Amino acid sequence: MDDILNFDSLCVKEVKDPRTTAPHVLPIYATSSFVFDSIDQGIKIFSGQEEGHGYSRYGNPTVDAVAEKIAMMETYGLNMDAEALMFSSGMSAISTLMLASMREGQKILTQGNLYGGTTELFTKVLQPLGIYTVMTDLQNLELVEQLIDEEGDIGMIYFETPANPTLACVDIEGICRIAAHYGIKTAIDNTFCTPYLQQPFAFGVDFIIHSTTKYLNGHGNSIAGALVGRDVEFMQEKVWKVMKLAGTNCNAWDAWLVNNGMKTLALRMDRHSSNAMAVANFLEAHDKVGKVNYAGLPSHPDHTVAKKQMRQFGGMLSFELKGGLQDGINFMNQIKMCTLAPTLGDVDTLILHPASSSHINIPEKMRLRNGITDGLIRMSIGIENVQDIIQDLNQALEIV
Ligand SMILES: *Cc1c(COP(=O)(O)O)cnc(C)c1O
Repeated sequence: MDDILNFDSLCVKEVKDPRTTAPHVLPIYATSSFVFDSIDQGIKIFSGQEEGHGYSRYGNPTVDAVAEKIAMMETYGLNMDAEALMFSSGMSAISTLMLASMREGQKILTQGNLYGGTTELFTKVLQPLGIYTVMTDLQNLELVEQLIDEEGDIGMIYFETPANPTLACVDIEGICRIAAHYGIKTAIDNTFCTPYLQQPFAFGVDFIIHSTTKYLNGHGNSIAGALVGRDVEFMQEKVWKVMKLAGTNCNAWDAWLVNNGMKTLALRMDRHSSNAMAVANFLEAHDKVGKVNYAGLPSHPDHTVAKKQMRQFGGMLSFELKGGLQDGINFMNQIKMCTLAPTLGDVDTLILHPASSSHINIPEKMRLRNGITDGLIRMSIGIENVQDIIQDLNQALEIV
């Protein structure tokens, strides 16, 4: 066959390997489209009569395999079906879900201390489209019920637990019980926990969101997101349609990086959790440190709720220096091993000052109301030897 083609055509041709090509490790399908055997098959695939791939915005084997793995993780041991799709980012997963499920005039009931980008999406992008946001304290279940009665037309309860950066926890089961009573859908951002530490489907949640950019990838080398839904048909029809038409799909390379990272998820989450517990204990005992926010500490106001729904308490914590803002800045500048970077969930320990980074675009009043003070420092505890993390914090604390 190669002899029949002209040389320049040969240059263009994909080489087919007639031997077994079943790969041990998931390959990256770096292809925009897929070949049909016949027009007939093409018609069947595009009209949904036959399963198959046509165009990578609609679906890609690498991306599909990773989505399926995330769905398997979120439903692990729960004896239920769920469908997952991957997106170009965590934000893209959230916006696609909202475009697929909300109508003009409906409201999202949520908490004030969401990931900053999510608050902005709701108030700056969805609100002008007539999808309104009602913020409340989702820890107060009586208030939640009262608001549902008063507001009317709540289409979704959307929440995060533990929440950034004070690690406040919402009672997943409590929220889902109320939502089910009123026939309202629930969506949770499970980025901080991953399904290894917390499985929201076990408590009745309808949709689970991940910024896979964080712990699922774990190595800080891709931006992607996932949405897992218990209503398989809704995911395959409504959500998939918005994904392919809004073009919010994940690409094969980023999905593959998530896949690689997920292989060590259990090992990493165990170590993140035990390291964070040790660091939280160290900070709590230090005389220059005020409040320490870590859901694993018995002193945390939501420790009981956290224990009910989390297997371990994860790698995220935050604390306040007694000296406030200036001490916070001095401390950050004195840090040697830990990295100053505005992300979380990576293998190395990351430090962030929310007031000047992740929450800079959130109005000050709203920020302070949610415990994000000027002197608050957030840490994503890595998987290093914990003695080295504590040593770094200790030497920086000596200076302030
Ligand atoms: C980072 C993050 C997001 C947004 O994810 P991207 O992948 O950056 O779009 C959403 N929720 C939480 C909790 C996050 O930490």
